Amino acid sequence: MNTKITNPNSMRSLAILFTATPLIALLITSCASYTASSSGRDYWGHRPGPKNFKTVILDAGHGGKDPGAVSKHTCDREKDLTLDMAKRIKAELSGFKTILLRDHDHFIELDDRVTLANKRGDAVLVSIHFNSGPSHVRGPETYFWRVDSHGLATRLQRAMASASPSEENNRGLVRRRLRLTRNPEIPCVLIECGYLSHPSESRHLATPGYRQKLASAIAKAIRTQSSDGDAGTGPLPRPINAPPSRPTDAPE
Ligand SMILES: [Zn+2]
Repeated sequence: MNTKITNPNSMRSLAILFTATPLIALLITSCASYTASSSGRDYWGHRPGPKNFKTVILDAGHGGKDPGAVSKHTCDREKDLTLDMAKRIKAELSGFKTILLRDHDHFIELDDRVTLANKRGDAVLVSIHFNSGPSHVRGPETYFWRVDSHGLATRLQRAMASASPSEENNRGLVRRRLRLTRNPEIPCVLIECGYLSHPSESRHLATPGYRQKLASAIAKAIRTQSSDGDAGTGPLPRPINAPPSRPTDAPE
């Protein structure tokens, strides 16, 4: 089968077809080519990563009524640190049009964040978070889902790992279908800048100088993705056709 899929509308139609006929879906998936444009909106994201984009959307996770994780070691709230990081990254991205989905302490529903991001075409979305878990777990981690987000995710994870103190673990890339990694129609990545639950990492994260170092590395990774595309980020992952993520899918 030589079917080439480049039109988002035809792909939406295929999504309906896929639901009814899994075998056909499997065949088409395995034959899907990477001929779609690497910029602009695309429903599935089965294409190489973006290059020469000029707009960066930064999503400071949580906000308002939703504090996110709270460090028992430093009392820092995730919602404050994500906004701080978003502002620092924006300041490092001169030459780009940088949009903050929130620029003060208020709550935005996840689905509304997706809607806001989808208003842009030639852009990438980076959602900023901090992790929480068992007290021994630490290190930056990056989530992606779409094929066109793999290169940027790889660059962001490498950047955060290299900016982290050597004793912190590199948690690596995780391919997970979240509302902010599957649902936007532009390349999108969710970064976890470190664990607020870890005693020493939370203290690093409480330091403005360390957050600035992380922000500089993250901005540099975004710049490199725009200048180089996916070059040097390894083979693209296999395309997966999966429906948009819903609130009941998994905790985010
Ligand atoms: Zn979070």
